[in-house]
Amino acid sequence: MRIETIDLEFMDTGQVIASFLLLGEDGASAALVETGPTNCLDRLTAGLKDRGVSHEDVRQVFLTHIHLDHAGASGHLSGMLPNATFYVHEVGYPHHADPSKLVKSATRIYGERMDELWGETRPVPEDRIRVLEDGEETEAAGGVLVAHDTPGHAYHHLAYLEPDSGALFTGDVAGIRLPGQSYIRPPTPPPEIDVEAWIQSINYMRQIDPASLWPTHFGSYEDVGRHLGELEQRLQDWLLFVEGQMDEGSGREEISDQLKAKGDAEMLAEGSDITESERYGLAGSYSMLTDGLMRYATRQREKR
Ligand SMILES: [Zn+2]
Repeated sequence: MRIETIDLEFMDTGQVIASFLLLGEDGASAALVETGPTNCLDRLTAGLKDRGVSHEDVRQVFLTHIHLDHAGASGHLSGMLPNATFYVHEVGYPHHADPSKLVKSATRIYGERMDELWGETRPVPEDRIRVLEDGEETEAAGGVLVAHDTPGHAYHHLAYLEPDSGALFTGDVAGIRLPGQSYIRPPTPPPEIDVEAWIQSINYMRQIDPASLWPTHFGSYEDVGRHLGELEQRLQDWLLFVEGQMDEGSGREEISDQLKAKGDAEMLAEGSDITESERYGLAGSYSMLTDGLMRYATRQREKR
C-alpha cells in the first residue's frame, strides 16, 4: 500500500491539517484516514483527483475522533463517496450519526468563528458507519489497518497502524508537530482531555512500536522514541505549570499568555523556528489549550 499526504490547506495555510490517502497496488482501491473539516472539502476532492482516485474508488474512511478538524467533512463525504464505509470509535459513533450535540459543544469553544473555521457539519447515515474496537483489523487498500484505542486528547480516540510499513496514524494523540520542526505541542482543548489516560496511550504507542508517526497536524516522523518522550514530558510539565499559575490566583488570560511565553521559549531552546508558533496555533491555540488544562486541573482537584 502507498500512503499519500493530502494537504487540506486549512485557512489557506499549508501543512496544518492532513488527510492521508492509502492506495492499493491494484490502483482501484483506496482509503482515507481523516476527512478534515467541511471547509477543506474542495482541497480533499482535488487531492483525490490529482492522484487519479475516483470517488467510487474510496472504500473506507478511517476517523481518529469526532473533532471537526479531523472528521467534520464526513457527513458531506458520505454523500459523495458512494462505496465508502466510515470507521469510528464506539463512543464517537452517536456524534457521527447525529452531530448536533458536537456542533453545540464546538460552538461554545469557537463561537462566531464556527462557519469560518469549519463550515457545516452533516450526519453520516447510520448504515454507513462501523465501530472499531481496540486491536480490530480492517482490510483497506490491499492491506490492513489495525485500530488502537488511544484516549487522552479525547475519550474516544483511535490511532491506526499499517503493519507492513509500521506507519501509525496518530490523529491528535501524538501531539502537533509541523514539518521541519522537532517541537511537539500537546493539543489539550476542553472539554475531554485526560492527562493520565493520555500518558497511558503514549505508553501504548511505545508498545505498538511503530516505525513512523503520522500526526494529522502534520506529516510523518521517524524519531518515534524522542517524539513520544518529548510529548509525555511536556504534557506533564504544562499541567504542573498551569496548576501552579492557578495556585497563584492567575486568571485564564494571564495563564494563556504565560503558557505562550513558556511555549515560545521552549521552541527557541529546541532550535525550532519561532515564526512557526502561529501555524502550530491553527491546530491548537494557547487560549484553547489553557482552557483544557485548567478544566482538567479543576476536575482533578474536585476529585481529591
Ligand atoms: Zn486536531
